[in-house]
Amino acid sequence: MPELPEVETVVRGLDSSMRGRRIIRAEVFRPNLRVPFPPDFCERIAGQAVNKVARRAKYFMVYLEDGTVVIGHLGMSGRMIVRPQDAYPLARHDHVRWQMDDGKEVVFNDARRFGLMLLADADTLEQHDLLVHLGPEPLSNHFSEDYLATELLKKKSAIKPVLMDQRLVVGVGNIYASEALFRCGIHPGQPAHLCAEQAGTLVAAIRAVLEAAIASGGSTLRDYARESGEMGYFQHQFQVYGREGKPCYACATPVARITQTGRSTFFCPSCQASITRRSRKRAACG
Ligand SMILES: [Zn+2]
Repeated sequence: MPELPEVETVVRGLDSSMRGRRIIRAEVFRPNLRVPFPPDFCERIAGQAVNKVARRAKYFMVYLEDGTVVIGHLGMSGRMIVRPQDAYPLARHDHVRWQMDDGKEVVFNDARRFGLMLLADADTLEQHDLLVHLGPEPLSNHFSEDYLATELLKKKSAIKPVLMDQRLVVGVGNIYASEALFRCGIHPGQPAHLCAEQAGTLVAAIRAVLEAAIASGGSTLRDYARESGEMGYFQHQFQVYGREGKPCYACATPVARITQTGRSTFFCPSCQASITRRSRKRAACG
C-alpha cells in the first residue's frame, strides 16, 4: 500500500507534469472505484487548467482553475501514470484518463480498485468528510514536540497504534511507525502516555524516516510505480520492518515481530526494551 512518502513522490511528479497545463479531455472507463465517480466528474474537469497538485495525508488534490478540487486516493494498488498520448493502448486496469494540452495523458490505473476520485470545492476543502477529522501533517510545524507530548498524555493504549491514528498525526503508517520507534529505542507496546517525555525525539524520528523515504522516492514493496510511468519497485533499507529473525543492525539481537491491532510490528527486543524491563534493570543496578 502506498504510504505517505509514495504519495508525496506521486504528488511532486504530478505537480511538475500538470501545473499550468490544461486538461482537454477527461474520461472514466467504469462507474466506480471504491466509491462511484460523481455523475458530472468528466464534465467538471474537462477544459480546465490545473493550478497545482498537492497532498493532504495520503490524498492527492488536483486544484482546477474554477475552484474545483479533484480528491484522489491510490488505495492499495493505485498508480498515476504520465505518458505520451496514444503511445500505449489502454491497459486492463486503466480507469481514468486525462488528456493534457501538451500531448501527454495522465492515467489512473488500479487493479484492486480500493482507490477513489471525488470532487470538492477549494473553499470548503478542509471541511470535506474525508479530511475534517485528520490530524496535522507530520512534516509541518503543527506537529511539534509540545503538541505530541500533550496528546500522548491523554492516551493509555500502546504507542505504536497511537502513532498510526490519523487523528493524532496523518501519514504514519505501519512501516514508518515501526521504524520511528526503533530510532527512539521505544518499545512499540509501551503505553503512549509514558512516551510523552520522549515526544521531541519521536517527532524528530518520524520526520527523519519519512524524509529519508521521500528522498529515495518512496518505499512500498509492491504494486507501485512512480508517477513518471517508470515501472518497477524500489525498496528502502529498513532497520526493523520486514526483518523478523534477522540481526538488528545496532546490536545483532534478532528482530522480533508482534501483532498489534491486527498489524505486524517489528522491533529489536534489546534496543527497544520495554519500560518494565528497563525499570527492572534500574532496580538491579540500584
Ligand atoms: Zn538492537
